[in-house]
Amino acid sequence: MTRLPAPKRGQEVTWVRTHLGDLAAEPAGQIVASPAFRGGQSAADAALAALDVAGYARDRGEVWPAGRRGASRLSPYIRHGLLPLHRVWDHVATGPSRDVSKFRDELLWQEYARHVYARLGRGTGAPLRHLPPQPPLTSSSSPWDRSMACVDLAVGELERDGWLVNQARMWLASQWTVRGGWDWRTGEEAFFAHLLDGSRAANRLGWQWTVGTGTGRPYGFSRGQVRRRAPGLCETCGLRAACPIEDWPDGAPGPTIDPDPRLRTDPDAQATAGPSSARRLREPEVVWLTAESLGAGDPASRSNPDLPVVFVFDEQLLARVRLSGKRLVFLTQTLAELAESRLLQVHRGDPVSVLDRRAVAVTFAPVPGFVRRAALLEPAELHPYPWLVRPLDTPIASFSSWRRAMGV
Ligand SMILES: Cc1cc2nc3c(=O)[nH]c(=O)nc-3n(C[C@H](O)[C@H](O)[C@H](O)COP(=O)(O)OP(=O)(O)OC[C@H]3O[C@@H](n4cnc5c(N)ncnc54)[C@H](O)[C@@H]3O)c2cc1C
Repeated sequence: MTRLPAPKRGQEVTWVRTHLGDLAAEPAGQIVASPAFRGGQSAADAALAALDVAGYARDRGEVWPAGRRGASRLSPYIRHGLLPLHRVWDHVATGPSRDVSKFRDELLWQEYARHVYARLGRGTGAPLRHLPPQPPLTSSSSPWDRSMACVDLAVGELERDGWLVNQARMWLASQWTVRGGWDWRTGEEAFFAHLLDGSRAANRLGWQWTVGTGTGRPYGFSRGQVRRRAPGLCETCGLRAACPIEDWPDGAPGPTIDPDPRLRTDPDAQATAGPSSARRLREPEVVWLTAESLGAGDPASRSNPDLPVVFVFDEQLLARVRLSGKRLVFLTQTLAELAESRLLQVHRGDPVSVLDRRAVAVTFAPVPGFVRRAALLEPAELHPYPWLVRPLDTPIASFSSWRRAMGV
């Protein structure tokens, strides 16, 4: 394990190239920041302050030109705890009711994804209730054919900005799986490497939803959606006279399988949800920040304003998942801003080895990696996760059944 110097604002790209460059997907010298998003609490606050939810219901699915888009672009900040869901939920309260309702539905999708992942953990990688259908395998070397203007637009944004509107994610995921015949798991990894909001919870759910493992109905991508959501884009496409997605793809439902019994009930809902109030076993000496708790409002951090905060870049994990450098820069921008108001310690190594024997205060994170590490570290002080709605022993097999059971 290595203690790294705290990053400074304005020098984040150099810092990542120097200290984490060998762990990124691209060569260190090619690492750049996303031109579309900046990490940090002040960027998150500004994005939320600028959010006008009016028109959201109508425009959320628009893809191109970018000026027609109505998506909030808050996801990278929501992902890392800079904007807790309840804060975003409250922020839009005075907007037009149709837009508020649609926007809050999407926040609930995020919460639902977190509940599913918290309960099933790594099992979220297994099909929910249906096996993915077996689409015809194509001979293409990549399911994302960049001579198609729609695919090129979306892949270009994914790789450059690290963000896509939901509609474009569905297009790419469908093209990869339903038409291309590739495994959704490898597609999920391709997204995860680039998305600034990349989370196993929402990403896996999105890919599984696309192939129909939840509903049995795969999502088909065809030219009609491009014409509707990106008017004029087809006219720029070299394949406009021979569009390979002119017609709806064959997407027969996959067979139903015996579902995981935990989709109906949670044998340990308390463990899934984490503590409901703060628990102090002994005096903490540092605050451990995780990728889920990088916001100024993090409960453990706020309760211990005078303690140093520690963030560990997990070397083994990063070497395995090979994130694009812009994700590392986004995290580093967040840390650099934090270092201006808190004593920040940054390490590279195994979080458990770095924090072993230290009395840490930390906020529960509903992801298997945290649960496993926290069990080894026995935090001195553990704070509740800021759920929008606390998980209960309810069905989670579908969004609608979960919603009904949760009463939201
Ligand atoms: C294949 C695929 C992969 C995806 N991977 C991710 C991912 O890794 N991380 C991620 O946060 N979202 C993921 N999504 C969900 C969704 O596409 C993004 O949350 C959304 O596009 C982010 O943009 P936004 O903030 O402008 O969203 P908005 O439309 O403005 O929505 C506001 C917030 O609601 C939440 N949200 C919206 N739609 C969804 C959804 N379908 N599922 C879960 N939460 C949602 C997000 O937190 C989002 O920031 C994925 C969707 C698909 C189809």
